[in-house]
Amino acid sequence: MQPNLHVCPCQIHPSSSAISSPRLYKDCCQPYHEAVYNEAVYNEAVYNEAVYNDAVYNGEVDKAEGIKAETAERLMRTRYSAFVLIKTDYIVKTTLTAQQDLLDIKAIESWAKETNWAGLEIVAHTPKLGKRHAQVEFKAYFNIKDNTASLEEKMQAHHELSTFVKVKDKVNNDVRWYFLDPTVAMSVSQKQPCICGSGEKFKRCCGKL
Ligand SMILES: [Zn+2]
Ligand SMILES: [Zn+2]
Repeated sequence: MQPNLHVCPCQIHPSSSAISSPRLYKDCCQPYHEAVYNEAVYNEAVYNEAVYNDAVYNGEVDKAEGIKAETAERLMRTRYSAFVLIKTDYIVKTTLTAQQDLLDIKAIESWAKETNWAGLEIVAHTPKLGKRHAQVEFKAYFNIKDNTASLEEKMQAHHELSTFVKVKDKVNNDVRWYFLDPTVAMSVSQKQPCICGSGEKFKRCCGKL
């Protein structure tokens, strides 16, 4: 299947009348997904000349400075689409850097594959929660395998409130949103510097949320 010409997974809402003109994947989440992929190619290329030359040849390096999610809601949408399309790299790269190595990538991948996704509903977006946080409340719908259930019973939803943190890269002044994964256990005490690199104490920053 060529997903780029299909309606973007994040534009599918279980009550189909909710989005009047849903965007195609290529006009919605694809550029975000590709930018992260291209950055990975670029970073590898820096260490490996052959890969670099290939990437230049394929026109991939130019796009390394690609598009990134402007808001927490956009990031949430692109992460949902990445789950549907099993783009595990994107899930990992958009999680707070300090948490990336602690993610269970195999588990994320098999969960993404085994779930029969049915749509996304953004319930609420709080774009500004203090200086550098935001929250998105959403329902990610999925169908369960149960032949005895009615259509309505088959559809269920993960109803979640996710927290995102805006991180500024001090070297190149790059500002980016990241998902703060509440399931990742981090060995950080309340008084230590925050895992997001803000320079504040953990308890006054991401530890509050
Ligand atoms: Zn989308
Ligand atoms: Zn923080």
